[in-house]
Amino acid sequence: MKTRTPLVMANWKQHGSEAALTDWLTSVSAIDLPEICRVLCVPLPYLAKLRQQRAELQSQVQAGAQLVSAFRGGAYTGEVSAAMLSEFQVAYSLIGHSERRQWFDETASARRGQLSALWQAGITPVLCVGETALEHQQGQTCEVLMRQLAEVLDGQATAGPLVLAYEPVFAIGSGKPLSAQSAQQMHQQLRLMLKRWYSAADCQRIRILYGGSVNNQNAGEYLRQDDIDGVLVGSGSLQAGAFNALCHAV
Ligand code: PGA
Repeated sequence: MKTRTPLVMANWKQHGSEAALTDWLTSVSAIDLPEICRVLCVPLPYLAKLRQQRAELQSQVQAGAQLVSAFRGGAYTGEVSAAMLSEFQVAYSLIGHSERRQWFDETASARRGQLSALWQAGITPVLCVGETALEHQQGQTCEVLMRQLAEVLDGQATAGPLVLAYEPVFAIGSGKPLSAQSAQQMHQQLRLMLKRWYSAADCQRIRILYGGSVNNQNAGEYLRQDDIDGVLVGSGSLQAGAFNALCHAV
């Protein structure tokens, strides 16, 4: 029996508008689903609107960010600190999404800084890890995942609250998700890997999400696996109707 509360995260990436946000949140908040935790990760300019709408609708949907600065503040043009995010009641922030790694050259040292900045601000990091198609074919998945965890978690002063998101790069936005059974195997491995930084009890508490072409047809099957505690959803989260159906399937 799983005791971890399922977490369903919508990642809007660089999509949306204020009007779309209002419609989406009104529709999603109308559905009472206290048994799961729903989070919406919007582009930064929409965080104020999200805060306002969540309050007005008394929404169960929590606010999420897609990125955060590794710096606490200062002369860093364009950066947004974790403390700023928390002013907008951001509860979760993605770190190390493969699109950040691929298109914005985010380094391991930036990710390490982002993690500790989030912990300091009381925001739960959602650390994204995952292998490329080539690494997958060459049987290097476990090695890659361990390296991606270590380069962020090694050297941290404390081991704070964490959510992991396992997203094989080739499954993101491709319509070719990893099977639920294969994802389960990797999640089980990831939970074992976490023992290097967390106590056995904490390893049981940490939620590990699967991401990569999740939709309302396949979401339920992921959540039925012992070590899959939720999903991180990109394109399948953009339409409120589809997202609601996905949440019901969980
Ligand atoms: P996708 O994206 O659901 O569109 O595959 C998932 C993600 O990038 O988090």
